[in-house]
Amino acid sequence: MTISKETRQKLYERANGQCECTMKECSHHTERCSHKLGPEWDAHHKVTDGPDDLGNLIAMCATCHKNTRTWGKR
Ligand SMILES: [Zn+2]
Ligand SMILES: [Zn+2]
Repeated sequence: MTISKETRQKLYERANGQCECTMKECSHHTERCSHKLGPEWDAHHKVTDGPDDLGNLIAMCATCHKNTRTWGKR
């Protein structure tokens, strides 16, 4: 699945350059993650096989995105 540059750009703007992760599985934040997205950020699909649109995407900092991969393997 490839997310277009335009979608990534819109997602970044919606997130205001800040990680949108609110998952409790992350130990470094309790509500919304306060990390800046930074150059390593990634777009995470809420529904893995869902569409590549803003409704199904969350902008995540590298730390949170790494966490999502760990859960997926469980
Ligand atoms: Zn984060
Ligand atoms: Zn997180």
